[in-house]
Amino acid sequence: MQLTDSFGRKINYLRLSVTDRCNLRCSYCMPAAGVPSLKHHEILSYEELLQVSQAAVALGVEKIRITGGEPLVRKGITGFLRELGGIEGLRHLVLTTNGLLLAEMVDELRAAGVQRLNISLDSLRDTTFTTITRGGDLRRVLAGIAAAEKVGIPLKLNMVVMRGVNDDELLDFAAMTLDRPLSVRFIEYMPAAGGDGWRSLLVPGGEILSRIATRFKLVPVFRDSKLTGPARNYKIEGAAGMVGVITPVSGHFCGECNRIRVTSSGMAKSCLFGHEEEDLKPIIRSGDRALLEGTLRRLVSSKPLKHPLSETNCRCDPFAMSRIGG
Ligand code: SAM
Ligand code: SF4
Repeated sequence: MQLTDSFGRKINYLRLSVTDRCNLRCSYCMPAAGVPSLKHHEILSYEELLQVSQAAVALGVEKIRITGGEPLVRKGITGFLRELGGIEGLRHLVLTTNGLLLAEMVDELRAAGVQRLNISLDSLRDTTFTTITRGGDLRRVLAGIAAAEKVGIPLKLNMVVMRGVNDDELLDFAAMTLDRPLSVRFIEYMPAAGGDGWRSLLVPGGEILSRIATRFKLVPVFRDSKLTGPARNYKIEGAAGMVGVITPVSGHFCGECNRIRVTSSGMAKSCLFGHEEEDLKPIIRSGDRALLEGTLRRLVSSKPLKHPLSETNCRCDPFAMSRIGG
């Protein structure tokens, strides 16, 4: 089975948010006061999340990324992951986390079938990290990364680059790949929070690469976007790991987009910055599997050609990324 949108793009990747809650309040993701938590009955149960996943895989989804909020704060997550991993036809089960709870959970995650982890890490300096995350403890994230490296689970570290906040650490992050098989990805700041301040925070991917290239020789890595996602990857000559840039603003990768999203409350979205969405919750709760599959198909056919962001334009309403999952 194959899911194809109206522009011929094959859709085989689901980002599934399992909770809107988080143990951090990153400045680029949510307001300082946080966002009101959804009520228990508004959130899909694990059984319901499994039903959506099964329907998506039956239609052609091959990769599911578990995200949040912070997915590791939801009770019972590893049992759910084990069930998800058992869906026939699902080839890749991966998870994005802020890493705070990773040190104590990495063995369970590995045993549950998680094949790769993306860890958000925006600074290697205590005070900057605490400022960006509004109170997070860098040491716990570094301990989580060390634990994950010890069990040998492949890792990607995601740094949201912000001018004047953490962009003086680009070379330190790139240097982490010299003798560790890590993939460090520099992500352009996306103006999800609204307002005009985003322009001064945005460091375009081209600038990120040229600043790294002042110190290190970067060799492009062949890119198969179906496997590697939207990052443009490079290796520092002789390095064990890779660096990459993800440029949703300065060089959108919509032409290659293969993803849909489902939030923890069952809203399915065909584009992070688009308005096209379907409320799956009542359909899942009705138990009508054919209707669920039909609705996912309709969502895919509503996928816009591209999102409206550019370096000068933010034609989008503000939203909390933690509600959607990035
Ligand atoms: N809590 C988990 C974490 O932080 O990895 C998963 C959810 S988080 C919303 C998923 C990803 O979205 C993270 O890598 C985060 O850095 C990214 N993200 C959130 N807001 C962003 C923004 N305004 N611009 C770029 N990336 C953003
Ligand atoms: Fe939480 Fe992740 Fe958003 Fe940070 S980026 S506030 S860790 S959901």
